[in-house]
Amino acid sequence: MKDVTKMERIGPHSHIHGLGLDANLEPRGNSQGMIGQGKARKAAGVILKMVQEGRIAGRAILIAGPPSTGKTAIAMGMAQTLGSDVPFVNLVGSEVFSLEMSKTEALTQAFRRAIGVRIKEETELIEGEVVEIQVDRSVTGATKTGRLTLKTTDMETVYDLGSKMIDQLQKEKVLAGDVISIDKTSGRISKLGRSFGRAKDYDAMGADTRFVACPDGELQTRKEVVHTVSLHEIDVINSRTQGFLALFAGDTGEIKPELRDQINEKVAEWREEGKAEIVPGVLFIDEVHMLDIECFSFLNRALESEMAPLVVMASNRGITRIRGTKYKSPHGIPGDLLDRMLIISTSKYSEDEIKEIVKIRGDEEDVKLGPDSLELLATMGGQTSLRYALNLIAPSQQIAIRRKNTQVEVDDIRLAYKYFLDVDRSASYARETSGMMFG
Ligand code: ATP
Repeated sequence: MKDVTKMERIGPHSHIHGLGLDANLEPRGNSQGMIGQGKARKAAGVILKMVQEGRIAGRAILIAGPPSTGKTAIAMGMAQTLGSDVPFVNLVGSEVFSLEMSKTEALTQAFRRAIGVRIKEETELIEGEVVEIQVDRSVTGATKTGRLTLKTTDMETVYDLGSKMIDQLQKEKVLAGDVISIDKTSGRISKLGRSFGRAKDYDAMGADTRFVACPDGELQTRKEVVHTVSLHEIDVINSRTQGFLALFAGDTGEIKPELRDQINEKVAEWREEGKAEIVPGVLFIDEVHMLDIECFSFLNRALESEMAPLVVMASNRGITRIRGTKYKSPHGIPGDLLDRMLIISTSKYSEDEIKEIVKIRGDEEDVKLGPDSLELLATMGGQTSLRYALNLIAPSQQIAIRRKNTQVEVDDIRLAYKYFLDVDRSASYARETSGMMFG
């Protein structure tokens, strides 16, 4: 189990925790794992603001730029900014073509994987949990019902404080929505700040999202548990032919449209009853020029749907043929779809930026890189590609370990460079030997 977590942790984008922007959407130098690409990050931030204000329905984003210039990283940063439980689905254009299902089914599944359903459930509180107290206007004198976060892990304290709290809350002029901490022994309340009622705010404060309702100044020991699943997971679990094991096998096959209609209805019901909330995520489609005209018309329609995720596409192609037609267009995307896209562009990194990214990745992968090694990897990255430089980190570490070096030295990287080709060297090797290999 531990190993699995570790492997997840060091995925290629695991160092990205957001877009690294300040409150004015200005890119910070080195923040949330993001380096450089300032204009594109800012543009992505502006789009997220529009998403949060519900003003971007029916549109899609295109990130255009050369290979390994952070297109996926930026899309990932967007999903992270929207919230830690917001789904991020990473699809490569060519993946939709398979023998197992139709193209449109593959796209529908990707859409539904990118839509989260935050489900709320009530259960009894257990001793030792961090709780959040909900207080209504009769207690605080505030105009709106709000919540207070009580940072204690001791159930006794919660009950004891129940009565003391009411006086204290009034004395300290605590309003609904304030976040407070309570001293366990004295019961003293101090204000920590405001809470905006979002799960991630509570996470940031170190509290689980727990609720204790307090309608008339009386504490109750119910808590609300929130978990997020995707629409696709709900589809698969409810599909009679698949069953939930298919989720692990990853072979979900086609899902009947009638089932999807039923699930949509059910989720709509839960929403109305206040039991569930829809969390539109980010669907990232890399190498979008690999899609064909039928996929594009599907996308055009699907974007209109009420429950569409934010669709971010990426391409490193210029003018190219739209697959399935004889026409050419920018990025191989038909004009009507291009027309409704906001386009962000990324550009090549400088060697200094590559150096910083390599350094972050070294830390992420627990690899010690000396200053000369960093320098060398940055130069190599500048001459080949950022991804090649990043790809050399792990093999260089293996070589360093074999040579009993405590950190990766320049010679280790040179060896790794010899063993593993970059794209240009691989291409020239293929050209030189093609007569023998494929002739
Ligand atoms: P392609 O066109 O080949 O799909 P891409 O533009 O999507 O490439 P990424 O996969 O995002 O490129 O970038 C390559 C690697 O570099 C990834 O590990 C990514 O997390 C990292 N990376 C890219 N840009 C940045 C950045 N600005 N800050 C930090 N890390 C980055």
